Amino acid sequence: MARQQPDSDGKKFEWKNWSRVKRVGRYLRPYAWGYAVGILIISISSVLTLFVTRMWGQLGGVGVSGEAAAGPDMLGGLGIDMGDLQAIGWAILAILGVQAVLSFIRVYLFAHMTENMMLAMRRDAFQAVVSLPMSYYDTHSVGDLNSRISADVTAVQDVFTTTLAELLRQIIIVIGGIAALLYFSVHLTLLMLGTLPVMILAAIGFGRFIRKLSKRTQDQVATSNGVVQESLTGMVSVKSFANEALEILRYLASIREIRTLAMRGAIWRGAFASFIILFIFGAITLVIFRGADLMAQGGLASEHFFTFLLMTGLVAGSIGGLAAQFSALQRGLGAIDTLMDLLHEEREPVRTATELPATGSEPEHPSDLESAARDWLQPASLPKMKGEVVFDHVAFHYPNRSDVPVLRDLNLRIAAGEQVALVGPSGAGKSTIASLLLRFHEPTEGTISVDGKPLSEYPLTGYRLRIAYVPQEVILFGGDIRSNIAYGKPGATDAEIEAAAQQANAHDFILGFPEGYGTLVGDRGVQLSGGQRQRIAIARAILRDPDLLLLDEATSALDTASEKEVQIALERLMTGRSSLVIAHRLSTIRHADRIAVLSDGAVAEEGTHEELMAAGGLYRNLVENQELISSS
Ligand code: ADP
Repeated sequence: MARQQPDSDGKKFEWKNWSRVKRVGRYLRPYAWGYAVGILIISISSVLTLFVTRMWGQLGGVGVSGEAAAGPDMLGGLGIDMGDLQAIGWAILAILGVQAVLSFIRVYLFAHMTENMMLAMRRDAFQAVVSLPMSYYDTHSVGDLNSRISADVTAVQDVFTTTLAELLRQIIIVIGGIAALLYFSVHLTLLMLGTLPVMILAAIGFGRFIRKLSKRTQDQVATSNGVVQESLTGMVSVKSFANEALEILRYLASIREIRTLAMRGAIWRGAFASFIILFIFGAITLVIFRGADLMAQGGLASEHFFTFLLMTGLVAGSIGGLAAQFSALQRGLGAIDTLMDLLHEEREPVRTATELPATGSEPEHPSDLESAARDWLQPASLPKMKGEVVFDHVAFHYPNRSDVPVLRDLNLRIAAGEQVALVGPSGAGKSTIASLLLRFHEPTEGTISVDGKPLSEYPLTGYRLRIAYVPQEVILFGGDIRSNIAYGKPGATDAEIEAAAQQANAHDFILGFPEGYGTLVGDRGVQLSGGQRQRIAIARAILRDPDLLLLDEATSALDTASEKEVQIALERLMTGRSSLVIAHRLSTIRHADRIAVLSDGAVAEEGTHEELMAAGGLYRNLVENQELISSS
């Protein structure tokens, strides 16, 4: 049964991955004692459940016959008068009291251990995700990673809070219950075991089959809705080709299929209802009938008969529950497997990937996060670089597209403090050059060096700390303007943030908002215009005070006023720093010390605007075909 396919989504666990699943032991180990106590409590509590059931039966039996006919059985050692209704009632209440206390302790204990485990697991999963190299994100969907941290961790949580506990409880009840049943009547027990569990398992399998059928019906409903959607959105084509009839027929075919599937489902649902009535209730009737018959012949005491019935119900319920717990366990193991797999993916050597303070040392207040991050990064920082960049015969293709060379033989030098504009047709590899400089990827051939040292010789985090990258699409994080600017330098003071905003020409528009630097941005706050967002990003970069600046200029046009503001901010940002600008605006390009024109994976032309215009090559073509944005 443990190998059944889980009903809901999620990865199926396979035994060959057991060694990977075992790694979860690292998270369990600190709570080994807690789990041992928890298991003990569940065991005691389950045995008590059996006792209570037995005593309920005793109540019924004594109530009917007015005396206790049978000798001592599992109640033997309790020292209670088993013929006295009141004594039994009080004893049951006492046991229930103990169980109530034990249950509370168990739930609390498991929650305490599991929530701490989840904290560590969520943290490690997120740490793994942010430490993955960019190339991982080229081949994996963000949604998938997201679900690992949310859905998978929750599935793991279910295993340790409820599934394992329930599994143990039900196993004890099934085994203990069957042993007790055998004690009361071997004959009746064999009859019951030969019928009920078989029927229950058949019913569970049947139920799954029916769910699958109804899923197919739902899928078909979705398909037919797709037909409607298509016809409606393409109404112009439908009408202009006079194809109404075709569309109606298409829809008809699809809804006929719904009817066929739904009717097939109905037949099986009907069969299921008949099955339950005839076989499950039939089996119950058979067992009760045999029991009553035995009792009438004096072969079974009345309290044993009552107990037998109640305990059969308990055992049957647990057998039914076991199946559900097994599939939950399987889902959980599958989730553990994917999570552990993620934790062992190769990471890039950023500082967080190698070490992080232990859980529990995180600051309690979100406002302390930034200074904590600053202190954490401090040891990683490198001495200032001059910022002389050399691309030496660099070739590159993306790992997932090895047949498409993006850069073939790129040679480019940016002198310390020089501003180089990179231009070229779309898809020429400009952004790729930026991502190589950011060390998102390694060149396939050749080397990139800064200040005469190959990039690979710099510690990754330290190197990136000396760079600022202003992307084309500026993404602001939820939170206020202040923290968005401070992203460039976690833990920066308010004075530093405002000075940066002033330089970036952002101070005035920020103060224009009633809440100034405390204004929330994004979904929950103001929506900033493209030009404003760019100036926030520039302020971020200024605050970082980088030795090397990478700028991917926005391709979308700004209005003239914004364009000027952004231009001035950019010029201030670039002054005195080595800058590589992926330029789309003539104003930016004219301001650069040098222009490199990229074509076919290599630098095709280099020079100033005037020189390149005079040369009449690719650059002049780009300008004349208006592929570069010229303002005013
Ligand atoms: P540009 O910035 O000049 O428009 P890019 O550097 O974005 O050009 O892209 C250069 C080439 O690399 C394009 O052919 C593009 O399809 C390809 N490319 C870009 N990013 C990836 C990626 N992550 N994986 C595979 N191919 C990519």
